[in-house]
Amino acid sequence: MNTESIYDYLERIANLIRTDVRKMGIARGLQPVQLEALHYLSRCNRYSNTPVAVADYLGLTKGTVSQTLGVLESSGLIEKQADLNDRRVVHLTLTDEGTRMVSESIPPNILKSAIEGLSESACEEITATLNRVLRELQAANKLKTFGSCKTCRYHLIHQEGRRQCGLTLEWLTQTDAEKICREHQPAVEDT
Ligand code: SF4
Repeated sequence: MNTESIYDYLERIANLIRTDVRKMGIARGLQPVQLEALHYLSRCNRYSNTPVAVADYLGLTKGTVSQTLGVLESSGLIEKQADLNDRRVVHLTLTDEGTRMVSESIPPNILKSAIEGLSESACEEITATLNRVLRELQAANKLKTFGSCKTCRYHLIHQEGRRQCGLTLEWLTQTDAEKICREHQPAVEDT
């Protein structure tokens, strides 16, 4: 019974949001999947801005992703750059136009106007609950978490305040800490 009613709410909310995002995308000449890929690339870190990671995150085949990224590149919304250490790996970054496109489209107006009417504590409560649902769903299905870097068990903050990835041992900035990552592993208290 609980599962059915949670499903009903999530499905209705997702449909309303998706319809509004679709309208925003079409008004700007983009299909929903192209806007979703653009949005992902605006949020992910440098370890996660590859075609394979886009496919993983969106649950799409490599072929569909390749087509999607081709359209974004030819529209001048993303740029490709070969990895400095491995020329076979390609990194994708948003152009200024791509960044503008995302910020004008997401989050969609339908959600913005609903959230504006809620108190800060209500927003925090909803965020915590949705985070819990997402984490449980990912854990139960052994899916990658794609969480924000600052919540990762490998995210180190040294005494002098410098941040470092304990997995790659590279230094991280404050901006890096907010980005989502393909290698993210939830901290113990986040599970
Ligand atoms: S600390 Fe975790 S989330 Fe951050 S870059 Fe390293 S592996 Fe990714």
